Amino acid sequence: MRTATKMPKLTIAIDGPAGSGKSSLAKRVAQILGYLYLDSGAMYRALALKALREKIALDNFLTLDELARDTHIELKPPTPEQEAAGSKNCVFLDGKEVTQAIRTAEVAQAASRLATIAGVREILVAEQQRAGGGGGVVMEGRDIGTVVFPRAELKIFLEASPEVRAERRWKEHQEKGETMTLAQVLEEVRERDRRDRERKVSPLVRAADAVLVDNTAMDVEETARLVVMLAREREKELARTAGREA
Ligand code: C5P
Repeated sequence: MRTATKMPKLTIAIDGPAGSGKSSLAKRVAQILGYLYLDSGAMYRALALKALREKIALDNFLTLDELARDTHIELKPPTPEQEAAGSKNCVFLDGKEVTQAIRTAEVAQAASRLATIAGVREILVAEQQRAGGGGGVVMEGRDIGTVVFPRAELKIFLEASPEVRAERRWKEHQEKGETMTLAQVLEEVRERDRRDRERKVSPLVRAADAVLVDNTAMDVEETARLVVMLAREREKELARTAGREA
């Protein structure tokens, strides 16, 4: 009698610049594969929100390191109602929900400044490794394939043109009733890209073994189908290798 091969659970890293569609893609891929979805950017945003609320200067590295050490950030799957309202991960800052509060342009800019601090990154990376360490996870961010999970079995580097990325972000702001112009959003996206790509610690770069996916002209469903296909291939490859080694 043939026994069914148990498919291994992968760690999937999705990195890319702001507005490249990482969240929607990672969430959809996790849904199809039955994996856990984790948004690492939400952790930088939550810490940035706390720094803004406590009026800590964003160049005060020592105090920000301390703040990161004294802060508890948790990502949880949304309830069906929250999911229907567009939430992908529910974010808790020191036990209080901040899922919506972290989605402003001000918090995004502050997060990208905090993210240049080595001590802050060290603490959040360790947290991300703990949260996703069990495998069967899709984590999105800027340094997942290079630093957080360098041995991830599937790495995607997601790209789209700056204009398309800004337009996606602008639509999100519009839906929330925020009054930024498209030109302002494009400027914000470009500034964050520059900071994320040029910083000394863990800059946004494509890992040598990451698959480059440009989704400028693709929708979420098409991109998700492509990534799920790659994931299934990796699962089969790993199952074959495990079978040979057994
Ligand atoms: O992904 P999101 O736009 O929510 O991330 C907010 C900011 O957090 C990014 O601009 C980036 O500076 C930082 N970030 C990071 N490393 C990650 C995730 C996010 O530096 N893994």
